[in-house]
Amino acid sequence: MAATEDNLLKSIISHAKEYGFVFPSSEIYDGLSAVYDYGQNGAELKNNIKEYWWKFMTMLHDNIVGIDSAIFMHPTIWKASGHVDAFNDPMVDNKDSKKRYRADVLVEDAISKMQEKIDKEVEKAAKRFENFDKAMFVSTNARVLEYQKKIDEANARLKDAISNGNMEALKQLIVDLEITDPFSGTRNWTDVRQFNLMFSTEMGSVADDASKIYLRPETAQGIFVNFLNVQKTGRMKIPFGIAQIGKAFRNEIVARQFIFRMREFEQMEMQFFVKPGDEMRWYEFWKEKRLNWHQALGLGNNNYRFHTHLNLAHYANAACDIQFNFPMGFKELEGIHSRTDFDLKSHEKYSCKKLQYFDAEDNQNYIPYVVETSVGLDRMFLSVLSAAYQEEKLEDGTDRVVLRIPAALAPNKVAVLPLMKKDGLPEKAMEIFNHLKFDFRCFYEEKDAIGKRYRRQDAIGTPYCVTVDHQTLQDNTVTLRNRDTMKQDRIHTEQLKQIIQESVSLSSLLKKI
Ligand code: ATP
Repeated sequence: MAATEDNLLKSIISHAKEYGFVFPSSEIYDGLSAVYDYGQNGAELKNNIKEYWWKFMTMLHDNIVGIDSAIFMHPTIWKASGHVDAFNDPMVDNKDSKKRYRADVLVEDAISKMQEKIDKEVEKAAKRFENFDKAMFVSTNARVLEYQKKIDEANARLKDAISNGNMEALKQLIVDLEITDPFSGTRNWTDVRQFNLMFSTEMGSVADDASKIYLRPETAQGIFVNFLNVQKTGRMKIPFGIAQIGKAFRNEIVARQFIFRMREFEQMEMQFFVKPGDEMRWYEFWKEKRLNWHQALGLGNNNYRFHTHLNLAHYANAACDIQFNFPMGFKELEGIHSRTDFDLKSHEKYSCKKLQYFDAEDNQNYIPYVVETSVGLDRMFLSVLSAAYQEEKLEDGTDRVVLRIPAALAPNKVAVLPLMKKDGLPEKAMEIFNHLKFDFRCFYEEKDAIGKRYRRQDAIGTPYCVTVDHQTLQDNTVTLRNRDTMKQDRIHTEQLKQIIQESVSLSSLLKKI
């Protein structure tokens, strides 16, 4: 991460803590690695993101319904899904720094560095020669060809080692690429070991009878095992979807980068059941729909891009990520996967229960294929927070930090502020607060100078401030201050609700998709 990106992330982390968005878990006990708590403003923002997703899925699509399945599930589910045997990451330690890494990520980073060297050679040559032909240069320059050969070889060896679960080969690749630890600068690596990412615990009060169960590493399986329950009770016809929001747990090897990679996090997943053979059409459909959902937030269309997977997971026949331009660069925000019939077929096998759909139009039974959209709620939160966070220099020479959170997602929609704490202004302000609070999440504050109070609302992203002054007592008008423009308009209190409603309502955001 470049220094400025690093600084930006640090500023966002400290802002999130200072203003009640995100706290390190168990802070008074020095925290718990990669676990975070959401504070009073964070919980509101998170709930608003959830609502935006839930309403989009279940209200705007009449063939999608939502469920809420339990975190604990029968342990055989994780055998059937492949998680017991294959939900592993390869890990390696540096013996000098005592730091732990994902071995595959170390190799991928080394490959990216080689690619950067090629890019630099190209850049240098482009400056030197007029009429520079990049394709010709790349295919003939000896140094570039040498790097490219190394990259191709490393990629092939990495793919081979991962798909065969060959940890010795992965270690040898780290040695051959002469990868050094960024902290100690040494190549003193342990062997590479497979590490299962699932947390386990025991269910049952008597130790002997207790059986090992897992904290779910994804919410999807709760949908698959309820597929027939929902289909039958909801009389659902294919194609249809089941949506779910819930906690997932992964014992991540390297859990850095704030709420981007946590050990306890939340997912918003939707499994869309389709007729076999139709899955590619629906995969493309959901790619477009999901990108539109993200872009409607107005965080900048250039901040999103697709990344297509070349190495597919065992259950998929097509997969891509929607990446977001986080402070650490473009990284996965959401996964869209065509999961074939792998999961339902496997649950049929392990449970010995039929999980088939009777298609009345075709008069046949089949196991549906599935297209999944899976977005991390915490990563969504970080995408909103990092795009919204802005440090500004104002015309009068002062600074302000403002969170330009999309208004429909903002924790508070409006702050009601009496200009002074006397002359009946607080009472009038409370009257307005009590009128607005049934429609919007409002905030009331009377302490400190008005400028200071505006800054505090800017810092938590409140789209509007209503200020009650002496004129209000005479003619029932107030000033309405806009967070983004800082412009203040004098309006009648009777107009407040409608003006605010138009720009902060979730339905106006949903209509943009
Ligand atoms: P990554 O490659 O970053 O580990 P993944 O491909 O394993 O992610 P999926 O299994 O596809 O992730 O999970 C779907 C979504 O859940 C991801 O796109 C991401 O937004 C979120 N997610 C996954 N792991 C974590 C985590 N440890 N912390 C926070 N969010 C996560």
